[in-house]
Amino acid sequence: MNKRDFLKGMILFFPAGGLLEMAANAAAKETAAPEAAGAQPAAMGAPGAGGYNGEKHYYGMGIEIDKCIGCSRCVEACKAENDVPQEPFYFRTWIERYVITKDHGVIVESVNVKGKAAKETPQEDRDVIRTFFVPKLCNHCIHPPCVQVCPVGATFSTKDGAVLVDKERCVGCRYCIQACPYGARYLHPKTRTADKCTFCYHRVVKGLLPACVEVCPTQARIFGDLKSKASRLTRFYRMNKIHVLKPALNTEPKVYYAGLDGEVR
Ligand code: SF4
Ligand code: SF4
Repeated sequence: MNKRDFLKGMILFFPAGGLLEMAANAAAKETAAPEAAGAQPAAMGAPGAGGYNGEKHYYGMGIEIDKCIGCSRCVEACKAENDVPQEPFYFRTWIERYVITKDHGVIVESVNVKGKAAKETPQEDRDVIRTFFVPKLCNHCIHPPCVQVCPVGATFSTKDGAVLVDKERCVGCRYCIQACPYGARYLHPKTRTADKCTFCYHRVVKGLLPACVEVCPTQARIFGDLKSKASRLTRFYRMNKIHVLKPALNTEPKVYYAGLDGEVR
């Protein structure tokens, strides 16, 4: 079904208005959209001139909670790299500040690009046990609900472990935005298509790191290839106790956290 057929349909129907092993197995089984199985869709940009072969890689990201200082340089770099609108409510990656209080309370504040929480809870407050930052982004899930609900196949999984959006196909119906349990997608106000983190796919196929990883001053973000035993991500995975967000949903995220507090949702 193409974009025009889908819109016709909309008018007819709405007349009024051990994770690492799992990831490796998924890499072997990965079912990609027709475009992703061979060459990447034109809308996503051509693979690198060096003969990039997606079959040989399977990407994920690691995040070391104790290293994140909430500076938001990653958020700024992502916005600049990926033409994300500057307004604070549009983002492909964002930082949350968690405040754990003595009475087991959990306060979650979003950190804006200036590195300050929107309504900062003072750290000297005697009720506060601990505060920490949690960088979030699309989890490039192995079983992504966003892909399942897309009626035109615009959202798809690639062989190398990214979940992408083909902007030429996307009809802006927002189904994927509603289906994502991590709030990782938004509707781009200019293109009117779904937008989210791509792991900076256009950079990765050229052998570069995602922009957020490159600028992080503390190396809280780690990007790598799960198919390579020597990659930083594989080592990070093996050397840390790893958690993912909302594991009960069985989406099998590929953003792996070390040092994640049980209070983080
Ligand atoms: S985090 Fe959301 S947008 Fe990303 S792959 Fe998973 S369901 Fe899709
Ligand atoms: S750049 Fe690194 S340290 Fe700064 S907020 Fe992002 S992840 Fe945390």
